[in-house]
Amino acid sequence: MNLWDTHMHCCYSGDSSEEPDDMITAAMNRGLSGMIFTDHLDWDYTPDPGLFDLDLPLYIEEMTTLANSINSYTGFYVGVGIELGLQPHLAKRHEQLLADHSFDQVIGSTHLVQGNDPYYDSFYEGKSPKEAYESYFNEVLQNIRSFDGFDTLGHLDYICRYGMRYYGKEKGACRYSDYASCLDEILNFVISRGKSLEVNTGSFRSDEHATDPNPSYEILRRYYDLGGRSITLGSDAHVKEHIGIAFEEVSLALKEIGFTEITYYLNRMPHTYPL
Ligand SMILES: [Zn+2]
Ligand SMILES: [Zn+2]
Repeated sequence: MNLWDTHMHCCYSGDSSEEPDDMITAAMNRGLSGMIFTDHLDWDYTPDPGLFDLDLPLYIEEMTTLANSINSYTGFYVGVGIELGLQPHLAKRHEQLLADHSFDQVIGSTHLVQGNDPYYDSFYEGKSPKEAYESYFNEVLQNIRSFDGFDTLGHLDYICRYGMRYYGKEKGACRYSDYASCLDEILNFVISRGKSLEVNTGSFRSDEHATDPNPSYEILRRYYDLGGRSITLGSDAHVKEHIGIAFEEVSLALKEIGFTEITYYLNRMPHTYPL
């Protein structure tokens, strides 16, 4: 099966120490057709200032050199992208960044809600699941309305991964119907601007009982029903063992929803392969 992993982090990200060449070898051994590194850049990451700053010139130069050395002598393709941590006040800086630097694929992700990361338990203290999730989806909407320079919208229901850990699976379950109007606005925005929606299999990294990627199949079905056809697929691997995690089973489920192809970006241009 022709599969690309288009979301992963190596040692240029503040939360990974994996060597990029080890990840490339792992992806080749995994039988993938290509991969795109998307290291973190989260300016003004207030919970841990500087953790997700990226040494851009070094990252681009070293990764492009490495990618070129692979791409010129194998049939395997390595791309150099980025995962931007969106915040409304960063819109102009992100626009400038993308005007100044070339990437293969740009993921736009919301990691912070008014400066707090739902990754941490402290985010949920004193909040009901509905309040917590609603604030997150509202922040996503505000972020993409402020800045639409990304190619694919990263892990739309990111908060549910950690909300379920905090509240428990039942209480922390995220039902589309509870946030329908906000989620529809987000999905319609993605569709009308010609962006892709990312299917992120990172939930399968730490939870052996995980059933859904991010966003959930329920949200992905809604996206499809609204006319959304363009999806990207990424593992969000931070170690080589997680590259391509659960891709086969998730691909089958996507096919059942009705999706017929997966998109990946090279030099910011969309390409597809059949599901
Ligand atoms: Zn992310
Ligand atoms: Zn990521």
